[in-house]
Amino acid sequence: MTQIVLATHNAHKVAELQAIVARVRPDIEVVGYDGPEPVEDGTSFQANALIKARTAAAHTGLVALADDSGVCVDVLGGSPGIFSAYWAGHAKDDAANLALLLDQISDLERDEDRGAHYTSVIALVTPQGHERTVEGIWPGRIAREPRGGAGFGYDPIFVPEGDGRTAAELTAEEKNAVSHRARALEALVPLLAEL
Ligand code: IMP
Repeated sequence: MTQIVLATHNAHKVAELQAIVARVRPDIEVVGYDGPEPVEDGTSFQANALIKARTAAAHTGLVALADDSGVCVDVLGGSPGIFSAYWAGHAKDDAANLALLLDQISDLERDEDRGAHYTSVIALVTPQGHERTVEGIWPGRIAREPRGGAGFGYDPIFVPEGDGRTAAELTAEEKNAVSHRARALEALVPLLAEL
């Protein structure tokens, strides 16, 4: 059976990708990656996703998938962006990251000034060196204060376009149907079919 290696330790992402691959290519098995972790020193989501996928492809000799994601706030010129996980420092501290972001735009009172989007980029790299990336965007805005207990990261302050609730007030099914990652995964479907 053909195998694809997934360069992530996030069990939630592994499950999402396994479901998509099973639907499009039931003949492909998704396997986890436990090799060396590269330094993510790219300056874009695309660059960082490719760095991770290249390392996994080189180390395993398999087709590799990797993703990179974050929240981009319009008034901050797209930040936190690729620095989302570490916005308030080096620990991956969701509460501190979210509090800092709220503080940085606290003077903006109108919803229309608080526009933001989540981005997810997935890179596919073959051991022969073929490289492709796909992107998913989830538009919305940043709430005035955190609400909801589901999801992770910036979900308690991200209000998707067309919804009054934050992403942390959506069920996992609701979020996974429309999120940036879901959209990137849909864009990945034709690439999987080509393999
Ligand atoms: P990574 O793609 O796992 O490196 O995630 C980067 C960071 O972006 C996460 O630590 C979160 O802070 C943020 N992020 C990415 N996707 C989401 C999401 O779906 N909800 C909330 N935060 C997210």
